[in-house]
Amino acid sequence: MAEVIHEKGCSAAPHNLTDYDTARRQFSWPIARGWLAGLPGGRGLNIAHEAVDRHAAGTPDAVALRCRGRDDRTTLISYGQLRTATNRFANVLRQLGVGRTDRVFSLLGRVPELYIVAMGTLKNTSVFAPLFAAFGPEPIRERLRLGDARVLVTTPELYRRKVAALRAELPHLEHVLLVGGEAVPGTIDMASALMSVGEQFVIPPTDPELMALVHFTSGTTGMPKGAVHVHEAVVAHYATAKLALDLHPSDVYWCTADPGWVTGMSYGVIAPLTHGVTTIVDEGEFDPRRWYQILQDERVTVWYTAPTALRMLMRHGAELASRYDLSALRYVASVGEPLNPEVVVRAQQVFGLPVHDNWWQTETGAIMISNFAAMDIRPGSMGRPLPGVEAALLRRGGDGRAAVVDDRVQVITEADTVGEIALRPGWPSLFRAYLHDERRYAKAFADGWYLSGDLARRDADGYYWFVGRADDVIKSAGHLIGPFEVESVLMEHPAVAEAGVIGKPDPVVGEVVKAFVSLRPGYNPSEQLRTELIALGRRRLGAVAPKELAFDQHLPHTRSGKVMRRLLKARELGMPEGDLSTVEGPG
Ligand code: ATP
Ligand code: MG
Repeated sequence: MAEVIHEKGCSAAPHNLTDYDTARRQFSWPIARGWLAGLPGGRGLNIAHEAVDRHAAGTPDAVALRCRGRDDRTTLISYGQLRTATNRFANVLRQLGVGRTDRVFSLLGRVPELYIVAMGTLKNTSVFAPLFAAFGPEPIRERLRLGDARVLVTTPELYRRKVAALRAELPHLEHVLLVGGEAVPGTIDMASALMSVGEQFVIPPTDPELMALVHFTSGTTGMPKGAVHVHEAVVAHYATAKLALDLHPSDVYWCTADPGWVTGMSYGVIAPLTHGVTTIVDEGEFDPRRWYQILQDERVTVWYTAPTALRMLMRHGAELASRYDLSALRYVASVGEPLNPEVVVRAQQVFGLPVHDNWWQTETGAIMISNFAAMDIRPGSMGRPLPGVEAALLRRGGDGRAAVVDDRVQVITEADTVGEIALRPGWPSLFRAYLHDERRYAKAFADGWYLSGDLARRDADGYYWFVGRADDVIKSAGHLIGPFEVESVLMEHPAVAEAGVIGKPDPVVGEVVKAFVSLRPGYNPSEQLRTELIALGRRRLGAVAPKELAFDQHLPHTRSGKVMRRLLKARELGMPEGDLSTVEGPG
């Protein structure tokens, strides 16, 4: 059994949820719904009311956003100011004739206007869909078209470079608003538009089932899908941020995910605002020194980040971290891809705090499985299902996905058996559709379960251990192996910063394991190192150890920070690279 890290320095237990079993017993979604206010007069539930107006009424001067611009200048925005700005944006939409369920897209970095547009759109009962600002014209067009965009908010520079030439192909895109005060033909200046309307806005009645958000998946396994979420999802955003991120109103909170992804929206925008905390909005790019500087200067207490970032920081070891005062930090969480146990252990040494790994998907809308405050962490495990979440592992068929026979699935009851993670529908943030793809949506459910497409095993104590995506699992000489397990073993070697592992077709054993490895500073590729790493694999993994190993300092990542194994595999096999819209950097 894996080593257990006990919580230290953490406030005893969050919100009286003293331990895992009590937390699960005491929690229900109706109870969580009661933690929110609802629109006055019983007129429904609107995300923006819970996130902005509720706090603007009670604590208008509390700081909602602390925005660090690229010049490191800080702008403060209070909940009261956010209410006014979002009211104005809702009035702008109304004036343009944009209404209920009309789609408003953003193509912006992490800037204050993003919060204004998102929340103003929701107040107007229109649908908000954020895009990643680094997308090129092609993925932008695809998503604007798939999402029936009527409005786009972006900057003059992004508009000229990426959108202007597409306008003719997007007849539904009626209005483009630009942030930045520059007159561009065919567009509206956002600042003047905001000043031309009143600052009062009454949120119309909002059915909790009304469509609120469209999020595109990361595209790790193929072409991204547009997942639809409704206002009711805010119940899950609020509750899971309380349970899995331990958010309290006095916290200074920093979520490093880009708002173009579901994490950046659910936990970078909505969840922290619903808790009335101060959120750090950082416009800059990842840089180890600057990130430590932000944690120090802003006195960040709760930090939600991703394995890639943690691996990069750990590359620099404890020495760099020790130059900064990180004493305000009390809670660190990670999501997006497997968090290697080695990284949890190194991070514990560097921060003096455990890293809480948690698992969820664009489709689930909120954290589902988590190492959370009311329980002990097991490095390498993604934790246990949150209160309110019923999870199971389903027996697999030949393709790795759940075996469905006559519409029935078989639930695995025994410990330490690999199966597909399934969730019992009924939690508020479950996606309600894939845009324009009913068949695919229907295929995600069987026998009363939502099927995640991810494989895991569960230990005797109910902790889930990620194995891989059904699509990524390698079958070698009769063994099935998840790439993550191989990658984690390689990362135990001091030279290895990151690894990506694939299966390569082989006439004898089905597939052989091939590893791609990037090295930490001070190490260089050599035959000797290659032999050493392959030997380490063989010692630890036996038959499923990598047979081949290549050094690659530029492992391809998705823009949301995941190692893109399908691309490593396509390149290795000389096959078409498929949809590349979400690949980070030069690739
Ligand atoms: P696509 O569905 O387009 O292929 P994607 O699945 O990467 O892309 P997201 O919804 O952003 O899109 O990511 C969810 C996936 O990320 C999960 O299904 C899982 O494979 C992976 N993931 C998320 N958190 C964790 C975690 N803590 N440990 C392991 N894997 C994780
Ligand atoms: Mg997915």
